[in-house]
Amino acid sequence: MPRAPIESIEPYGRVVALRQGRRVMGLLPPLMDVRCYAVDGLLIDSGLNSFRRQVLSFCQAQRIGQAVLTHHHEDHSGNAATLMAQDVPVLASAATCERVGRGFALAPYQHVMWGQAPRAQPRPVETWLETAHHRFQILPAPGHCDDQIVLFEPQQGWLFTGDAFLGEFVKNFRRDEDFQKTVESLRRLCALSFDSLFCAHKPVPMGGQQALQRKLQLLLDIEGQVQALHRRGLPLRQIAAQVLGPERWLLYAFTLGDVSKYNLVRAILFGPRPRRR
Ligand SMILES: [Zn+2]
Repeated sequence: MPRAPIESIEPYGRVVALRQGRRVMGLLPPLMDVRCYAVDGLLIDSGLNSFRRQVLSFCQAQRIGQAVLTHHHEDHSGNAATLMAQDVPVLASAATCERVGRGFALAPYQHVMWGQAPRAQPRPVETWLETAHHRFQILPAPGHCDDQIVLFEPQQGWLFTGDAFLGEFVKNFRRDEDFQKTVESLRRLCALSFDSLFCAHKPVPMGGQQALQRKLQLLLDIEGQVQALHRRGLPLRQIAAQVLGPERWLLYAFTLGDVSKYNLVRAILFGPRPRRR
């Protein structure tokens, strides 16, 4: 008998998160969780399509009147179509609108972890997004993917980062992640004044700016070490092992090499590899 998927409500003052994690094959614990956030009638990201019932009841409880997607990935855009069918306007960057409207291919592991997101046609978001009590500045933050945006609420010191953060100690990169753009985005975000960092996977409710700065510094340190070893002529896999530690082969095998330490080294030295569309 498959066990129910995992979900929980996480309160962060005026911000509330719906955490979702999809059980692997309906049985094993989720490999990763994801959150959509509700604040002042605004839903930030739309969660997993397999959690559409829970997302809709969360929206009802939080009196959601509009939604915004931080980027096109299936764990963020999964219920854009569901929300629009309920007359909730969904906004996103122009690039996200295009990707979500056209649809995009998933790797097998992404099917297992998240599941497909039905196509939807969100509306382009402006530079500022207003709710009854708050104004959110929409800022581009490419790196994790090209269409990533973040929402900054300067009065409250809130930064909703989608997947622009993902934790301080990320040493595995997807094939298509752009290292240089990640660093440039983190530099710009570090210059903002905020304390609460609402990441979809690893929220940092207090001390978020410092966590982001530590992450940036770690990536710059890694870059310096990788470049030095590359100049000495070491092969990429050896550089990855020396700087980042042994490859997590289970993760490597499960994602068919899409998420790895090798990819981080490769992205530093040669840039990202385009994703199949
Ligand atoms: Zn993502």
